[in-house]
Amino acid sequence: MNLILLGPPGAGKGTQAKRLEARFGIVQISTGDMLRAEVAAGSAVGREANAVMEAGHLVSDDILIRMLGQRIERADCVRGFVLDGFPRTVPQAEALGVLLAGRNQTLDAVVELQVDAPALVERIAGRFTCAKCGVGYHDSFKRPLLDGVCDVCGSHDFVRRADDNRETVQARLAAYQRQTAPILPHYAAAGLLHRVDGMADIDVVTQQIMAVLDHLPAASAARGVSP
Ligand code: ADP
Ligand code: ADP
Ligand code: ZN
Repeated sequence: MNLILLGPPGAGKGTQAKRLEARFGIVQISTGDMLRAEVAAGSAVGREANAVMEAGHLVSDDILIRMLGQRIERADCVRGFVLDGFPRTVPQAEALGVLLAGRNQTLDAVVELQVDAPALVERIAGRFTCAKCGVGYHDSFKRPLLDGVCDVCGSHDFVRRADDNRETVQARLAAYQRQTAPILPHYAAAGLLHRVDGMADIDVVTQQIMAVLDHLPAASAARGVSP
């Protein structure tokens, strides 16, 4: 099963992608995480991307398309993938179509998480992540069960992103409206777009996404569920 999770920064893509990964054995591909790994490694791509990301702008299509092309060739994608943060521009969406066609693969669904702007700002300002396993938390909406200890892996180390501040958020929301939202009509016309209320509680959002996926004929067949 090949999925795209679309939505503005803070909509809950990473949170839900991790659940889909666990539920279906498909791999989460987060281009933001991949770029942050390049920045941490000090690679040429990382050096180019760092300032762009901190300003809340989008990194160049060339870099992202090359990165994604290499990523979906890896063996862990055999059962499929959930894209989290890609495509983010019309050229990226077109390139994804070409990449998949070249591999005889298709997209099963594009799920758009709809969240209003004030909620996005709140979510981003309070976001932190386990440094070891990458699972996401929030100061108000999703605290670890035991303060300072990751629910999933027990780690005591957490990180906050350099770009998760109220100033950069505005640039990132503007980039979404201007550069990413225009890809939605493309997927709607292809009959692939499913809109989900991302304002609901995390578990309720997961249930809504599962309901969408349960009604996909191809995905049901792949999971051995009779129609
Ligand atoms: P994205 O990957 O779309 O940027 P995240 O999954 O990282 O978003 O979520 C952003 C923040 O909001 C995180 O701190 C996360 O714990 C929290 N969050 C995610 N989904 C919800 C939700 N449905 N309700 C409240 N908070 C949420
Ligand atoms: P969020 O979901 O909170 O917006 P991401 O982790 O997906 O954050 O992305 C962080 C930053 O990485 C983006 O603001 C952008 O600078 C860069 N980035 C990630 N994915 C892409 C992409 N597909 N195209 C261009 N830039 C990207
Ligand atoms: Zn952890």
